[in-house]
Amino acid sequence: MNFRADFHIHSKFSLGATRDMDLETLSRWAKYKGLDLLSAGDITHPLWLSELRRKLKPQGNGLFKFNDTHFILSGEVNCVYIGMNGSRKVQLQIFSPGFEHIERINKALSKYGDLTAGGRPLLNLEASELVRIVCDISMDCFVVPSHIFAPGFSVLGTGGYGTLEECFGQYAKYVFAAETGLSADPKMCARLSCLDRITMISGSNAHMPGTIGREACVFSAALHYYEIKNALQYKRRDELLYTIEFYPEEGRNYLSGHKECGLCFSPLESANLGHICTACGRPVRRGVLQRVEDLSDRTENEAKGKYLPFRNIMPLDEILAFCMNAGTESQKVREAYLKLVEKAGSEFSLLLDLPEEEVRRLAPVPVAEGILKSRKSDVRVFPGYDGVPGKVVLFDEGELARYSQLELF
Ligand SMILES: [Zn+2]
Ligand SMILES: [Zn+2]
Repeated sequence: MNFRADFHIHSKFSLGATRDMDLETLSRWAKYKGLDLLSAGDITHPLWLSELRRKLKPQGNGLFKFNDTHFILSGEVNCVYIGMNGSRKVQLQIFSPGFEHIERINKALSKYGDLTAGGRPLLNLEASELVRIVCDISMDCFVVPSHIFAPGFSVLGTGGYGTLEECFGQYAKYVFAAETGLSADPKMCARLSCLDRITMISGSNAHMPGTIGREACVFSAALHYYEIKNALQYKRRDELLYTIEFYPEEGRNYLSGHKECGLCFSPLESANLGHICTACGRPVRRGVLQRVEDLSDRTENEAKGKYLPFRNIMPLDEILAFCMNAGTESQKVREAYLKLVEKAGSEFSLLLDLPEEEVRRLAPVPVAEGILKSRKSDVRVFPGYDGVPGKVVLFDEGELARYSQLELF
C-alpha cells in the first residue's frame, strides 16, 4: 500500500508547541492532511510517554494506532557538548519499535540531562555516544540527525561538522538516514557526495497541528516498523517513493543575511562581500544554501539524478491565506480550509493527486490556480534568512485583484 508519513513532530510538552499537540488533535489533523503515519514525538518525556502508553494501541508490528492514525515511537534530543573543535549542538531523533526499548534508552539518557524539562531534552552527551547508547540497547532502534544543515543546531550546519563520519566516528555506519530540514531539499543534499549512502527523509518539525505534513515521506510498503526501517536502511527506492518538500527558499535559514538590517545575500554575493553585512559591517548569519555551497564537492549539474524524487508544495492554508489576504491562523482561512479538505478528501489529494479538472471543480478560481501553479513550481519565492521566513508569491499584483472580483467561498 501507499502511505504518507511525517516523522518529525513535537508534543505539547515541547518548548514552543501549542497545548493541543495531543493524540486527539494530531490524529484529526492527520486525516485533514492525508497522513497515515505520524511520529508520536517527544518519547523521552515521562508524562507524554505515559500518555502514549495509555492511549496508543500496539499493532504487533512496531507501530501503534490512535483512532485511524498510525504512530511510530520517535522523539528528538538536543546533544550539547564540547567536542574536539569546540562546543557542539546537534539535534537527533531516536526511533524505536516498542516502549521497552524506550524505557531503557530514557534510563540511560537521564544521566546526561533532565528529561522532564521539555519534550526535546538538552543532553550533555556527544552525538556519537547517543548513537552508541541507542544501538547498544537494540539494533532495532535507530538515530536520524534532524534538519542536517540548520545553522547552529545540526550535524552539518554552520558551526557543525563537515561530514557525518566526523560527527559519529566509528558509529557513523549505524546512521543511515537524515532529515533534509525545511530550508534544504534532496537536490541540495546531493551536492555532498558524502551523503550518497544516506537516505534523506523529510518531516515537518511541527509544533502546532496545522503544520504537520508540511514535509513528509511517501512510501509504497506495508505499514510496518521494520518495512520502514529497511526501506531507509537499504535505500529502497521502490519503497520510499518520494518526499514532499517545502520550498526550501521558504525556510527561515535559506540565505545568509541579517534580520535587523533586513538584508540577505546569495552565496556568491556573500562571498564577494567576505560574508560581511553591507549595512552594519558585522559578519552575516550564514544560511543553509551557503553551508551546502561550502561543504559541496559537486556542482548543481553534477548532483542531477543523484537523489530521490521529491515534490515541492505550498501548504493549502498558505495558498488560502494568500488568496484571501488573511493570516493562516485566521478564522476565515481555517473555515475555508476545512470546507475544501472535506470536499477533496484530504489536503494532499488536492495539492498532489487529484486531476487538474477536479481541482478546478472543487476549489474557487484563485485557489485552484494557486494549487496548480504550486504543483508546477510556477511561483516566486522571497527567500528566508536569519530566522525570517521566506514568502511565496503565487500571483503578481493585478492578477489576484482580477480574481478577487469573484466570490471566494
Ligand atoms: Zn524538532
Ligand atoms: Zn547587518
